[in-house]
Amino acid sequence: MPETAIRHDWTPAEIQAIYNQPMLELVYQAARTHRQYHDPRYIQVCCLISVKTGGCPENCKYCAQSAHNPTDLPAQPMLSLEEVLARAKQMIAKGATRICLGAAWREVRPNKPFDSILQMVEQLSAMGVEVCCTLGMLDKPAAEKLASAGIYAYNHNLDTSAEFYQQVVTTRTYEERLATLDVVEQAGISVCCGGILGLGESEADRISLLHTLATRPHHPESVPINMLWQIPGTPLAQQANVPFWQLLRMIATTRLVMPRAMVRLSCGRQRLSAVEQAMCFMAGANSIHSGELLLTVPTPAFDADDELLQLLGLQKLPPYQQTTCETTCCPP
Ligand code: SF4
Repeated sequence: MPETAIRHDWTPAEIQAIYNQPMLELVYQAARTHRQYHDPRYIQVCCLISVKTGGCPENCKYCAQSAHNPTDLPAQPMLSLEEVLARAKQMIAKGATRICLGAAWREVRPNKPFDSILQMVEQLSAMGVEVCCTLGMLDKPAAEKLASAGIYAYNHNLDTSAEFYQQVVTTRTYEERLATLDVVEQAGISVCCGGILGLGESEADRISLLHTLATRPHHPESVPINMLWQIPGTPLAQQANVPFWQLLRMIATTRLVMPRAMVRLSCGRQRLSAVEQAMCFMAGANSIHSGELLLTVPTPAFDADDELLQLLGLQKLPPYQQTTCETTCCPP
């Protein structure tokens, strides 16, 4: 069977054509490509620790943590190193191999809270897990400090298309987002970057987001696909749920246009049945966020996920095992 090539020259029309194929043909192609680049018996379990919650100066319309959105979320000052390590130990004991530290900041600044994050990164890395951070925009010195501390990945989602971005957030630009991705990449840090479905975007916006990611000189190593979780008090509280079949199309298309990426079934998984999640794994999703909370949004508990993985005969992926096919057929 011919290998699906890694391409960086996709056109929006090509991605649209993939996305719009008959559903089962799309899922079949994605499943086949998934098997060429990944071991389909494994799912990576990720966890997120919100190190500093709420009071964010950005105005993302979907977010409970924005100071612009009158939500019920209590702001939480920065967690201590000890608290973070204790939570991480529990997560690792439950099978998490990637731990993300989140802080509701616009950008990283050279201050004491960032020094605390660097300590957390250093100590978590020493525990043998992939450490990811999501801290807002980064400049070169901050990225280099994170890299020196042993960070594995940096999450910085584009959320949606460049065309629709200003309908979702106006306190920063798409270009600033892309600039942070460049800085992360240049510091040698693995890039985690995906989107959110259900913000009011069109199908063309979803295609445009995938086009932006899949035509970067290096595809992100990790692409989270989220569904909006409507939070009372946010401007998007009344949005309709994303139909499952649209999520499935998005996952399968992501797998096909960025074959080597980890495709992470992230926010909104709580709403999916076991059968729907199984379809997503078939279509190329190979990671889940587990452990009751994904920042401020509920996500399935570890025990429920253990049951699901057992039911499907899937195993938890060890850390640092992203691609099974690293030799001649998929040069880095
Ligand atoms: S999504 Fe991130 S940047 Fe936007 S308001 Fe929430 S915490 Fe701030």
